[in-house]
Amino acid sequence: MSANERAAANRPRLVFATRNRGKVVELRQLLAELALDVLSLDDVACERPDGPEIPEVDEDGDTFAANAAKKALAISRATGLPALADDSGLEVDALDGQPGVHSARYAGDDGDDQANNDKLLSALADVPPERRGARFRSCLALADVRGRLGDQVLTAEGACEGRITEVPRGDGGFGYDPLFYLPELDATFAELGVGSKNDRSHRARAMRAMRPRLIAYFRLAGSGVSG
Ligand code: IMP
Repeated sequence: MSANERAAANRPRLVFATRNRGKVVELRQLLAELALDVLSLDDVACERPDGPEIPEVDEDGDTFAANAAKKALAISRATGLPALADDSGLEVDALDGQPGVHSARYAGDDGDDQANNDKLLSALADVPPERRGARFRSCLALADVRGRLGDQVLTAEGACEGRITEVPRGDGGFGYDPLFYLPELDATFAELGVGSKNDRSHRARAMRAMRPRLIAYFRLAGSGVSG
């Protein structure tokens, strides 16, 4: 085994507790510099074709933090691995903070992005640009039921302010990205590459807060961070 292979084999493993491919792409990039072996739920299923079923988690909490903790704990229990979950959503001022924790299923249980975006544009049809303020929020939760955390979770939150456009713009990203406009960049999230979105997004900000905790929890070498 080469030195590189030995180093890779010794990395702590972490599974992302999400089936949302857009989130997996962003989270992978946000964690790229940490010496962690990061797996998606698909990676775990491929590795263990006869392993226990990975549960669908009912996101019935009232807060992003409650849902993130529930997802992280369920996936850590099912896989036996440390699990990192993101629960996130869009709060629109003119809709009193809706869709909020219901963002994924705003237009129905199948979580159809196009239907969600159409419903949001209809709900804001009569709202002028200056009243179309909104923010994305993300809560990240780390669970490790077989490790030192036991039944506890570590959480971190982030938010990103913007505005809802009157028509979709751009074809990158996922979810409400084509409608979420950043005045300072004159671009929607869907017009930014993953790298630029990850410079400023709600999930990136939550990860910035979570990062020192991951470094400390997994005792990642060379961090010099104890928080
Ligand atoms: P959940 O966290 O799996 O409950 O789903 C979050 C939902 O919020 C997604 O399905 C999207 O509709 C929306 N959402 C969260 N983060 C983003 C983002 O970065 N871009 C666009 N939509 C997002």
